[in-house]
Amino acid sequence: MLTRDNATDRRDQRAVDALSANPEGVRHIKDLEFLVQSSTRDRDYRVKMQNGAWECQCPDWHDRHLPCYHVLQVLRRLNPFQGPAVHLPVPPPPRGKRNWPAYDAAKQAKPILFDRHAWDLLQIVPEPLDPPGRRGRRALPLRTQLLFAARYVDSTADSRGARGQLVKELEAGSGLFPRVPNYSTASRLFNHDGTTEILRRLIEESAWPLRELENGGTIAIDSTGFCTSCLGWYNVEKHNQKRKHPFVKAHVVCGARTQIVLGANLTDENGADCPQFIPLVERVWKRGFRPAEVTGDKAYLSRANFTAAWKLGLEPYMPFKVNSLGTASGCPIWTAKYHQFHSRPDEFLRHYHVRSQIESTFSSVKRTLGENLLSHTARARYNETLTRLWVHNVWTIIRISYEMGFDAGEAIRTSRSVPPPDDVGAAAAYRESIDPCVKKMPPVSAKH
Ligand SMILES: [Zn+2]
Repeated sequence: MLTRDNATDRRDQRAVDALSANPEGVRHIKDLEFLVQSSTRDRDYRVKMQNGAWECQCPDWHDRHLPCYHVLQVLRRLNPFQGPAVHLPVPPPPRGKRNWPAYDAAKQAKPILFDRHAWDLLQIVPEPLDPPGRRGRRALPLRTQLLFAARYVDSTADSRGARGQLVKELEAGSGLFPRVPNYSTASRLFNHDGTTEILRRLIEESAWPLRELENGGTIAIDSTGFCTSCLGWYNVEKHNQKRKHPFVKAHVVCGARTQIVLGANLTDENGADCPQFIPLVERVWKRGFRPAEVTGDKAYLSRANFTAAWKLGLEPYMPFKVNSLGTASGCPIWTAKYHQFHSRPDEFLRHYHVRSQIESTFSSVKRTLGENLLSHTARARYNETLTRLWVHNVWTIIRISYEMGFDAGEAIRTSRSVPPPDDVGAAAAYRESIDPCVKKMPPVSAKH
């Protein structure tokens, strides 16, 4: 790692001035080698990466073994965006030791708070109006269906068992459902066309109350598989039936500070990781989140991804492969990061390793909500997976509110980013006036 002192600062200022006066003074020879003109412009010094550090042929470098005027010009040339990379901010460690008393309290409050917070988050979902002249029994409100699906996923039981739990709550006079929907509600919802986009929106909106904590931080991107059935191998053994889609692959972006899921997309098991980067990261940005860095593994390494991240104000931290070249090919941030990776690996890897937060997010989702999906069709499996991510977010809001000491319900109600369009809002109000499916809840005793 480069050290920094007043002498380096003075040299750096000279390097900036020299480079702006004479951009041709630094010439790229090959991968990690440059020729830099001396200040008197009568000779060139060779600046070269050796054993993870920049070396120069000049007497100054030989005296001090610290970045000289020439090395600093190379650094400036490599990272013209932010000045010498020695200034790069180092993120704080994502999280310290877990605050166990807060975690315990949050875990115990979850059964009380889950329905309330989930219901508040569901208020962004527009309720479709019945077509005029429709007869027969009114359809179950969409929000009620979604809340039931969330409870079903959260219970990790089968849908009949989940319904049984709700009936028990109803009989005990607790719970949010004034009448308990049929057990097939969740599977019908999961099989419906429009559900995927609603769930993706719900995931994004549920991250919104924590945006202040994530803005300026790091987002991590990765993918993980959910098995579609634990009987797959038995079928192969017994009946020699090959399952067509043994995995659902969830491509997920999460905020590293809180482990909240900011966005997700789903593919079958053959879905490649790399092409998911730009749509996911751009969508996170368009939803109003303003992180400062993005980290992912080598699967996301491409100049197109680096450029896209950089244009959104994000510094990409994806480690380079052994055969990666530092040539920019139209992507200067690629070269800048390539040189940072090779010349200051400690610094680069400290940013990169924040990525482990998404591994803990996946681990948390799979431990608490299970790894096997129970749905039968591809669309339903996608929606079941998205519901798990949403349920994880509801729990994350509860946990963080206890850890940080704020009122999660208040944060959810006051932080809606995109209010539904007027006509949809009116429709929702109408729907609620005719079918109030939420009972007035007593105040929560859990203290904040
Ligand atoms: Zn030098």
